[in-house]
Amino acid sequence: MTLRRLVFIALVLTLSGLAGAESVTLVTGGRAHYTVRTPEDPDEMELKAVAELERYLARLAGREALEAAETPSVTIEIGDAADNDILRERASADQSGFFIEVTPAAVRLAGTTPTATLYAVYDLLERLGCRWLMPGQIGEIVPALGTVRLETMSVVELPDFASRHLQALPGGEASDEWALKMKLGGPTFPGSHSWNRLVPPDEYYETHPEYYAMVDGERVPTQLCTSNPAVVAIAAQSIIRMHEETGETWFGIGPNDGGGFCECESCRALDTGDTDPLTGEVSITDRFLTFANAVAAQVHAVHPQIKFAFYVYHNYMRPPKKVIPDPSIVPAVAPISLCRLHGMGNSICPERNYHQWLIREWTKICPEVYHRGYSYNLAGPNLPLNYVSRWAYEIPFCKRAGITGFRVETQMSWANYGPLGYVMAKLMWDAEQDSHALLDDYYTKFYGPAAEPMQQYWTYMDRLRRNAPYHTGNAVNIPDIYTPKAIDDLSRWLRAAHDRARTEPYAERVHIAAESFRYLHAFLRMREAAEEFEWGEARAALDEMREVGQWMHDYDPPLMEQHGGVARLNRFWAREVEQGQERTHGGNKLVHAFGDSWRTFMDPTDIGEDLRYFSPRTDDGAWKTLKTYSQSWSDQGLRYYKGVMWYRQTVSIAPHWAGRRLMLWFGGIDESAKVWVNDTYIGECETNGWEPVEFDITHAVRFERDNLVCVKVTNNRLNELGTGGITRPVMVWSPKPAEPAAEE
Ligand SMILES: [Zn+2]
Ligand SMILES: [Zn+2]
Repeated sequence: MTLRRLVFIALVLTLSGLAGAESVTLVTGGRAHYTVRTPEDPDEMELKAVAELERYLARLAGREALEAAETPSVTIEIGDAADNDILRERASADQSGFFIEVTPAAVRLAGTTPTATLYAVYDLLERLGCRWLMPGQIGEIVPALGTVRLETMSVVELPDFASRHLQALPGGEASDEWALKMKLGGPTFPGSHSWNRLVPPDEYYETHPEYYAMVDGERVPTQLCTSNPAVVAIAAQSIIRMHEETGETWFGIGPNDGGGFCECESCRALDTGDTDPLTGEVSITDRFLTFANAVAAQVHAVHPQIKFAFYVYHNYMRPPKKVIPDPSIVPAVAPISLCRLHGMGNSICPERNYHQWLIREWTKICPEVYHRGYSYNLAGPNLPLNYVSRWAYEIPFCKRAGITGFRVETQMSWANYGPLGYVMAKLMWDAEQDSHALLDDYYTKFYGPAAEPMQQYWTYMDRLRRNAPYHTGNAVNIPDIYTPKAIDDLSRWLRAAHDRARTEPYAERVHIAAESFRYLHAFLRMREAAEEFEWGEARAALDEMREVGQWMHDYDPPLMEQHGGVARLNRFWAREVEQGQERTHGGNKLVHAFGDSWRTFMDPTDIGEDLRYFSPRTDDGAWKTLKTYSQSWSDQGLRYYKGVMWYRQTVSIAPHWAGRRLMLWFGGIDESAKVWVNDTYIGECETNGWEPVEFDITHAVRFERDNLVCVKVTNNRLNELGTGGITRPVMVWSPKPAEPAAEE
């Protein structure tokens, strides 16, 4: 029970003493002993509240609909019709606040807003045993009570966080309905990459290039030159105009997404020299807040109620050294580049503890701070992962730190994340409830006879993620987390659950998890086959993933958002496998499969070309060995290394390939490369870590002795994932020789 939660025991109950609470009967024998009183001019949400209450009361009674009793004894008062101004006043502390009062003569359900009145109805139904454990019919629990009785009570409910949003829940209406039942809502943190909106380059860049960032000596419209007073004035005027046109009162004021910040002398003079440890760039937080404060002052001279928003992100993630933000400026801590596998408070992960420090520091200087977390492993194809213990720690921590609200990016996938969405939503309302009790209730009600093995399944998955000493983004570490032993254990629990869940809806709920497990298993087979150059098998596993992913997408309600699942599979993982298969089938032949380990040399000052690191005459005896496809840069201690890395490997090509065309193919390089074979410069490419690239090396290959393949990889951009260098398998292949032209 939290401090802001005020619970009153009704006087009538206190007086009844040892007899305990009185109960009020709403339904017996299919008859409604109540009448409903609605406000005179009801809002749409208040009408919905009445309809939902009546619909669920009938279902609790085990009926399609209820008949009216001859002499109804109870009045249910909804919204403004609920007669208790003292409780209404207490609930008004939050726009989502509501009260429930049950006396022998009346049930009163009312919120600060009509939506909060609907929350009151759902809250009462939960007290009667209803649950909405995921969107749609499949997630709904409505016990058959027959007789519906309420204890007398008087409760005011206020959320622990004014703003509770899981961003991008998949699938329209069912998700929207579920969000209402889970009391998600409140003010929405506005989009905050805003400089293009405040000082549009279309309008000003041509006539006033000096309003924009000086980068390498030129004015470019990537970001603003915020030390220019004219820029401050235009930004303030834009906000004043937008407010007057739309009535909006909360505006994004943060930089555009991406880098390219102003290097002019006056802008740089506002930096303190504090360096962001992740990007290695100078922190621009102080210069940004100088700008934001100046804009706020000009806006407030006209409209003092306006608030501002920005993301604590990129090289303005560090707290300021000197400038205190105006209280109307609201940051959302959005550490996209930090590890997203682990949670705060996990000693395995320094990055999440840095995140926790950031929240502590920002909440010291800003009255309102939002958490814009990332509750999925960024850019992954939505494989099963259980983040429950992470949020069971982070949400109460945020409560203690004074966080105002959440706008969490989720890529929510009900098949792959199990109880996560339910637990997050419940904790966002009441952060200090017992998460273990919440989970016990979830497993018991959702899985029925299969509760025990399914609890084992999800809990083990959570432990595997929490204890995995890897921090790379996307699905790179999935094969490290889900070892063969882990897969065996998980399969055993799924089989036990399958055996126990013989009836619906439990069988279907276990089936959903089993399909997500099949999706995971296909991913693991795809990676294993790709890394063994068994491209036909890898391709079959890719096709199975697409099939299961499509099924999860088409399920009603959707178990996985297309954008977050199959689309990311296709974007990040499919091209390599498809090309690998095409280049080794249909007469095309695999000539040589490169090993996982390469000789490597780190070249932060980029002198290797002058020193001819690509030459066979340069000895690489003192170079280090790095893995390529089996371990990421992050796994090998190079998480935030930006710069050049040289890779060399010696290969021998059998003489029978002489006369055939030979192609050097890379499954993925992050992010640009130059290639030499035996001192011969072959070519270069720009890529992104997951697009395969290839070079014709026919002219450079020798058959009588070993060939030295040398790759200079440059990785300069922070890509948020912790990858770099050669990231995927490398091979030499030979295209099928052209058929000799047929004779006429
Ligand atoms: Zn400037
Ligand atoms: Zn981590």
